[in-house]
Amino acid sequence: MTAQPSKRILLKLSGEVLMGAGQFGIDPQTVARVAAEVKAAKDAGYELCLVIGGGNIFRGMAGAAKGMDRAQADYMGMLATVMNALAMQNSLEQLGVETRVQSAIEMDKVCEPVIRRRAVRHIEKGRVVIFAAGVGAPYFTTDSGAALRAAEMKCDALYKGTSVDGVYDADPKKIATAKRYDRVTYDQVLNDNLKVMDASAVALCRENAIPIIVFNIREQGNLAKVLAGDGISTTVAETA
Ligand code: UDP
Repeated sequence: MTAQPSKRILLKLSGEVLMGAGQFGIDPQTVARVAAEVKAAKDAGYELCLVIGGGNIFRGMAGAAKGMDRAQADYMGMLATVMNALAMQNSLEQLGVETRVQSAIEMDKVCEPVIRRRAVRHIEKGRVVIFAAGVGAPYFTTDSGAALRAAEMKCDALYKGTSVDGVYDADPKKIATAKRYDRVTYDQVLNDNLKVMDASAVALCRENAIPIIVFNIREQGNLAKVLAGDGISTTVAETA
């Protein structure tokens, strides 16, 4: 892998990635496997900020669809992301990677609050910082949290590790002829309502010229490949 020292990236992981082969929750073996890939990226010279979703445990929209108050359900979703962050911290530290969790909902028994300047110092000291609880407000997603942290931490790129290998012009699970883009613009994603991240996350990345690289993190070793510019992914940027 081509080491690119001092390149700071934000890695967003969907919660469902942590389920492994399961249908719900956290599979410790899968978390350990992903943590090993994060360690490899760090060893290759990258500075890493992490944001992890909560969809493997609870999504506010799902709760609201079953009659819950949306905001209340969203707060539960944010708490789910804190559990995932702690699981990832545990696995990273078992591999000897110093890690700090900062939560947008203050929870001082288990992690730090989000303090940007402190997070920057952690990164400078070689620690991985995991940002939990999204933006700390309901009606948002962890994608927006990822875009926000990527902007305030001045990350060079936002890598979205998920269960699909990029951005398609239609849902590849439903339409066999769906085409994957290698590169697509922020505007096209927003205008065509392509399923990458929610619109507020894409708009924030566009405003701050942060490229988004969407790739499949379920495939072992893929993070290293994609960071090296190989492997299958879609880049969302200003120009196609
Ligand atoms: N959430 C929220 N505000 C945020 C981030 C997350 O309300 O800033 C809630 C929301 O209910 C969301 C849930 O937390 O559904 C889990 O996050 P997300 O759905 O983004 O997780 P992912 O799809 O990445 O696993």
